[in-house]
Amino acid sequence: MRPLVARADGSVEVLGGFRPAARSGTRACGLEAADVIPIPEGCTLMHLPERRPLALDTRDRPIEIEADLLPVAAVLPVGYLRALLPASRPLPGSRRLPLFGYAAVVEHNGALKVAAMRTDRFAWWQPEHHGSAELLPAIAMARAALPDNRLVEHLTTCATDHRCYTAQNTFFRRYEGALPASPACNADCLGCISLQSDGAAPAPQPRMRFAPTADELFTLADYFLDGRDAAIVSFGQGCEGEALTRDDVLIEATQRIRASHPHATVHINTNGSKPRFLEQLIAAGCNSVRISAISFTDSVFRAYYRPLGYGLDDVMACGRVMAEAGGQVCLNLLTFPGLTDSPAELDATVAACVAMGVQQVQWRSLNVDHDWLIDVLSRAGHALDSGIRMPQAYETVRHRLPGVEHGNFTRPVRTGAPSPWG
Ligand code: SF4
Repeated sequence: MRPLVARADGSVEVLGGFRPAARSGTRACGLEAADVIPIPEGCTLMHLPERRPLALDTRDRPIEIEADLLPVAAVLPVGYLRALLPASRPLPGSRRLPLFGYAAVVEHNGALKVAAMRTDRFAWWQPEHHGSAELLPAIAMARAALPDNRLVEHLTTCATDHRCYTAQNTFFRRYEGALPASPACNADCLGCISLQSDGAAPAPQPRMRFAPTADELFTLADYFLDGRDAAIVSFGQGCEGEALTRDDVLIEATQRIRASHPHATVHINTNGSKPRFLEQLIAAGCNSVRISAISFTDSVFRAYYRPLGYGLDDVMACGRVMAEAGGQVCLNLLTFPGLTDSPAELDATVAACVAMGVQQVQWRSLNVDHDWLIDVLSRAGHALDSGIRMPQAYETVRHRLPGVEHGNFTRPVRTGAPSPWG
């Protein structure tokens, strides 16, 4: 295997005379054939500006590559999990990288390979089902059916400009539909894709600027769920803040959705900040939750989320209240090589999954400038140098949580599962 590097003009070349390197947190390591898979369809190569590539010399020592060469990273499509970070080092004063889940990439026998593993093959989310010529007519139909609903215009931008699959599916009236509910949030995550509060990196999906009414949420859900292959409506999308901050509006919309669509999965993606309110939402008809977390270690959680008025106890309680009501509990585990796969983090994650009644772990590559995150967490006292590698971490969690599903995507609540509304 050989390292890949880029020129400033974007051209990519193979670097001779060195072995490829990657990083697990702060630790540089070699890349072996077992660490990589063929680069999947839909993967994007990016060069990392204002950074130096690292490689291993003939004695396997990490060295910086001088000259005008830049590191190259791969950004994976959905359904794949990053295993190692790209081997790069930021130059003094370098700007923050845009929010992507950068993974190590190499050349091997004339082909590109990436440090990753496949975690889900759920047909709903395959790229070939999205971005088709049918999208614009589907948007036109929604506009005609819901002429005064601001969510239709908002999701049109998401579906076309940002190519969001959930927004596209909302218009196709199939699988999982988006119900973005809140322009505000009670956290300020380092990797928030809808708002970067210090403006140092662009947010890939600008935050929605209005607070939809219960009627707008319900009528869009009603339109979507009348589609033949529609199964789930989801509050809490990448283009918004925290849906649980919408209190009464969410409850009214959920009651109306449940009354009209008794078999639908009414789901919420959340930071898990408001368990008492989630309880009320469950009573209104919500039967599925996906709670996002980077870590169940308090200092890591606080350094990353910068939460306002809530803590890990609330996050754990959100899982518990849904599990006790008989609904579906998913954990959206925001992974970072060198952090997620450290033995202490794995112990905390497994314990939290048990306490929360998690039924499915969704393994996601955290989108963030890796060196910025490492810098923030090292100032909070975390060294990020004891990862056991992500594939081993994945297998460890699978082994220690028998009966728990692992993947990338939320499934509809199974028919026949106990439900809180009977
Ligand atoms: S909880 Fe979600 S919306 Fe709020 S800051 Fe974090 S990523 Fe952004």
